[in-house]
Amino acid sequence: MSSAQPSDQKWRLVIHGGAGIIERDRITAGEETAIRAALNRALDAGSEILESGGAALDAVEAAVRVLEDDPHFNAGRGSVFTYEGRIEMDASIMDGRDRNAGAVSGVTGTKNPIGLARAVMEQSPHVFLSREGADQFSREHGLEQAPASWFETAERRRQLDELRARPEAEHFDVHLKYGTVGAVALDRAGHVAAATSTGGLTGKRWGRIGDSPIIGAGCYADDRGCAVSGTGAGEYFIRVGVAHAISDAVRIGHDGAQAAADAAMADVAALGGSGGVIVVTPAGEGVFSFNTSGMYRGEAGPAGRSVALYGDERS
Ligand code: ASP
Repeated sequence: MSSAQPSDQKWRLVIHGGAGIIERDRITAGEETAIRAALNRALDAGSEILESGGAALDAVEAAVRVLEDDPHFNAGRGSVFTYEGRIEMDASIMDGRDRNAGAVSGVTGTKNPIGLARAVMEQSPHVFLSREGADQFSREHGLEQAPASWFETAERRRQLDELRARPEAEHFDVHLKYGTVGAVALDRAGHVAAATSTGGLTGKRWGRIGDSPIIGAGCYADDRGCAVSGTGAGEYFIRVGVAHAISDAVRIGHDGAQAAADAAMADVAALGGSGGVIVVTPAGEGVFSFNTSGMYRGEAGPAGRSVALYGDERS
């Protein structure tokens, strides 16, 4: 038998909208409905591409754009505020075919930072641009810009005010509902890709950068291993090198995807950190692993889809 044609191959999409203290008594019924609807729209956007034979890279970007545009998540519109009351966003994207990657940090005016990360990957000789330079690159390459008022929401302002009233907690998101977004996918051609986008942590200072835009920490994709996107306390994800650790464990073959993801999250927990990851392998396996009470998440494939928020929900 000859090998299956691309159109016969399986595809897979897994997304997250952040991990943290996500419990039923902390989320209103209206918020829950809106969050589930947004996760479903993100799955629609990515699945449509994958179902029709499109690239995993296009699918992860499309899914993340939907979540960036939705104010319930800490990415794009709805990003958290810095200590000084600004919005500075980070994003990264990686293609498992050739390990090409793009990332941006501290960007302020690009409507969809994930599109800027992709432009850095495809239209510059670099992998990682930051702050004013990244903003300038965005304008020069014609990416859609948005005013500060597009990104800012009253709820994020309230969270900053609450944090600023408690200076001893200055580095930490008051609700530990991190809300970063991400997507990982396998396309019918057998390639994987990953994308991650965030506003970072409420009250961040001094140009702080988390794991989300760091290739190997909050994002990684390698057809020889797997695609990974993370969310959580970025300092720990950087120290563990979470996304690369998972992909390499799968590539070397010591661990299956679930065991590799669980081991990396155990490592984060052992250092004192919390959060979660999503993983897709070239074999079509989709995995979640988190050590928080919940993670906004969803997955889709030819056999159907599911969306979940709380730790005790099946996903
Ligand atoms: N990982 C992100 C950061 O540390 C936060 C998050 O996941 O929400 O910037």
